[in-house]
Amino acid sequence: MRVSLRCMKSLERANLRHKSTSFIGLGRMGYEMAYNLFSKQFKEANDSYFVVCDAVPESARFFSENFLAQFPSARLTIATNPEEATLASNRVITMLPSSPQVKEVYGQGIIPTLKNLSAELTRDTLCIDSTTLDVTVAREVAADVVVMGAQMVDAPVSGGVAGAKAGTLSFLVGGTESSFKEAGSLLSLMGLRIIHCGPSGAGLGAKICNNLVLGVEQIVVAEAMLLGQKLGLDPAVLASVINSSTGGCWSSSVNNPVPFALPGKSPPCERDYEGGFATALMLKDMGLATGIAHKTESPLPLGELAEKIYSQVIQKQPELARKDFSSVYRYLKDTA
Ligand code: NAD
Repeated sequence: MRVSLRCMKSLERANLRHKSTSFIGLGRMGYEMAYNLFSKQFKEANDSYFVVCDAVPESARFFSENFLAQFPSARLTIATNPEEATLASNRVITMLPSSPQVKEVYGQGIIPTLKNLSAELTRDTLCIDSTTLDVTVAREVAADVVVMGAQMVDAPVSGGVAGAKAGTLSFLVGGTESSFKEAGSLLSLMGLRIIHCGPSGAGLGAKICNNLVLGVEQIVVAEAMLLGQKLGLDPAVLASVINSSTGGCWSSSVNNPVPFALPGKSPPCERDYEGGFATALMLKDMGLATGIAHKTESPLPLGELAEKIYSQVIQKQPELARKDFSSVYRYLKDTA
């Protein structure tokens, strides 16, 4: 179903904007998050309006067809751009690749539209950005939204595509107490843990620090699992020792990079490193960490090295870019 700007304006004019939620960015994460959110909102109030928007029109169409097949009486429409999505809804959620897309969608779409709305409608608007992006860009965008009179939180997620599909994500939220409370009712329909980390940018700060630890840990677990095998250890024995000792961590106990090192579990390495968190995304997150560390003059010797290693993985074995980042093990093994 394709809907025109006229239709979006009519939602605004008919005073139905407060019953409507727009979701912009229906990629691997956004599709699952929007599906969960809209399904639960529809079950709670079947007079709700839903709006989806993606730079790739087929993605919005695919979502719309699937959602309407399951909920034929739902009022779901496709916005052809972020302006329409903002006109139509007082709740706007974005899940985009990174900083350039957030700058574009807010700078050229959402913020100019807020400027043209009445003061009352702008005040009633809440923007939630779940993208993992540069903290400085996120703070600037949020400040521009707030200057218009609307509210905004950064709410990056932890939990991956599986967590998005199951509705079990953790949201790390940055913003004022009141915007956190407003956002909480929507976020709790997509996740289990909604954590207020502090003012604008704090959610992203927490997300970037967490992924810094994760990115470094995954490399050292790969190193240890490789070294252990060179020393004649069975990977399952080694993994069990590490996981019951002080070296244990998520990268060794859940995302162990060696097939069959975790009996009874099925990490991405057992599916040729498919279906996890892409190496390219980890490289992006390591870059966000080193970038903000540089700006704040915080030392990051391991983080810088890890960024270099993920970059080499993608350069030398481009097929690993979209595979789970634990495939750094394969890269190290192949280059040994
Ligand atoms: P993705 O690339 O699959 O999806 C991004 C979507 O945004 C795409 O559908 C794209 O067409 C759309 N888009 C791009 N520019 C747009 C624009 N100008 N207007 C409208 N739509 C636009 O990415 P993803 O895997 O869904 O990740 C989204 C964010 O979540 C990233 O910041 C990522 O780092 C973060 N994240 C991802 C995972 C994961 O496991 N994939 C886990 C945690 C966090």
